[in-house]
Amino acid sequence: TNRTFTMIKPDGVENGHIGAILEKITASGFRIVAMKLTQMTKADAEAFYAVHNERPFFGELVEFMTRGPIVAAILEKENAVADFRTLIGATNPADAAEGTIRALYATSVGENAVHGSDSDENAAIEGAFHFAGREMF
Ligand code: ATP
Repeated sequence: TNRTFTMIKPDGVENGHIGAILEKITASGFRIVAMKLTQMTKADAEAFYAVHNERPFFGELVEFMTRGPIVAAILEKENAVADFRTLIGATNPADAAEGTIRALYATSVGENAVHGSDSDENAAIEGAFHFAGREMF
């Protein structure tokens, strides 16, 4: 098995979708290894999304990701990274397949309800960004 890292983004929390999103995640065979409600500072979000710092939407993304609490979690499953990307659907909910978390709960390309790591390497980096070893089970 391997691991991925996810966040239920501020819009998902504000819109009351924590329970529904976690239900879809666990019903899809992911085991929750670590989880917490937390809020990123501006410095946290700028570091977490550093790969996007030249993109035109970077400022908007940092504003959005810091405006309220998120649920951060590490998930375990065979083929976790790819299977989780399939479960959440395309970045833009207009392009997300029917039944995916973004098709169901995202509002726009920016406010798209959830994050999923894009590689095993980034999953490890992102998980370690949010959790200490003793918080992982
Ligand atoms: P994530 O990394 O959150 O799982 P992703 O890999 O599907 O998303 P990326 O292209 O890596 O998408 O973009 C990272 C995040 O930046 C998106 O999830 C979204 O919140 C935001 N974003 C991407 N494109 C835009 C855009 N055109 N306008 C505003 N925000 C955007």
